[in-house]
Amino acid sequence: MYPQIQPDALINKIILITGAGDGIGRAAAVHAAAHGATVILLGKTVKKLEAVYDEIVAAGHPEPAIVPMDLQGATLTHYQGLNATIMDQFGRLDGLLLNAGILGKLRPFEDIPQEEWANVMQVNVTSNFLMVQALLPALEASAAASVVFTTSSVGRKGRAFWGSYAVSKFAVEGLMQTLADEFSNSTMRFNAINPGATRTAMRSKAYPAENAEKLPTADEIMPLYLYLLSDISKDQNGQSLNAQ
Ligand code: NDP
Repeated sequence: MYPQIQPDALINKIILITGAGDGIGRAAAVHAAAHGATVILLGKTVKKLEAVYDEIVAAGHPEPAIVPMDLQGATLTHYQGLNATIMDQFGRLDGLLLNAGILGKLRPFEDIPQEEWANVMQVNVTSNFLMVQALLPALEASAAASVVFTTSSVGRKGRAFWGSYAVSKFAVEGLMQTLADEFSNSTMRFNAINPGATRTAMRSKAYPAENAEKLPTADEIMPLYLYLLSDISKDQNGQSLNAQ
């Protein structure tokens, strides 16, 4: 469906992936590294990040970097520190995949605790805002930086009982569109991916009774991710695309 990228299309690219220890983020990290990228693996659980690191190194791909960060508690200072480290080690950031996210609990609107609402907004939206703002210097130092947000079908059409998660994904779409417009004359581009139903821990939490074997794996939905992170998507800006 999306143009296949060449096996070496991401060589010399520095790509940061959030939520890189599991699910879709893990697959994106492994596939980007397999196409030549040096990936910066950011996530909460260090053990998971180390497992992805080991897998990439064992396959003979460029050595990744690991950044343990809990997006729930991270402040602007942490993100600014990340920008400084990236500038120091790599001098630029060519790709940013904002993939980490939490579902919260699916429940009736009147039962959503304020704290849960705030947590979902923090991880799914506010962390994206802070990360992009703080990493602008590293992104602007790239010849053609691609920022990829992660949306969902419920971020385009609201759904009963998906309150905080659905609203957070609407906000992600808004953030992506606003940045795409505001920086339309820059070297950077901003797009979003809706992965669609994918066999991960988050999906089984949302649909515990479903037969997960029937769903595509994270590996199977990678063509769109690789397309948006490569230079062949240079002219794509402000789009919300479906991986399936
Ligand atoms: P998973 O739950 O499998 O993975 C989520 C990742 O985000 C994990 O690596 C997790 O790290 C990380 N993460 C969660 N909270 C934090 C935090 N506070 N700080 C740092 N990292 C954190 O989810 P998926 O792979 O399924 O989802 C990836 C993205 O795709 C999400 O944005 C999701 O909303 C979206 N999506 C997924 C769909 C699906 O069917 N799977 C459908 C539509 C959208 P750790 O494991 O260490 O907690």
